[in-house]
Amino acid sequence: MSDEDGQVRAVCTGCGGDGQVAEPELAVLNGVGQTVLTLRRCRWCDGEGRRPMHPPL
Ligand SMILES: [Zn+2]
Repeated sequence: MSDEDGQVRAVCTGCGGDGQVAEPELAVLNGVGQTVLTLRRCRWCDGEGRRPMHPPL
């Protein structure tokens, strides 16, 4: 844990702290088209699960 570097970091709201987000993607399995969830690295926190939180002014 390195929360003492002077930076306030909050759990990323984009992925809920997982660092990954599930994105629906169309796939064809056994000749049947269906939607499957694929995990992608969160673009908000770059996979860290946390990101700097700007204090309210
Ligand atoms: Zn995230």
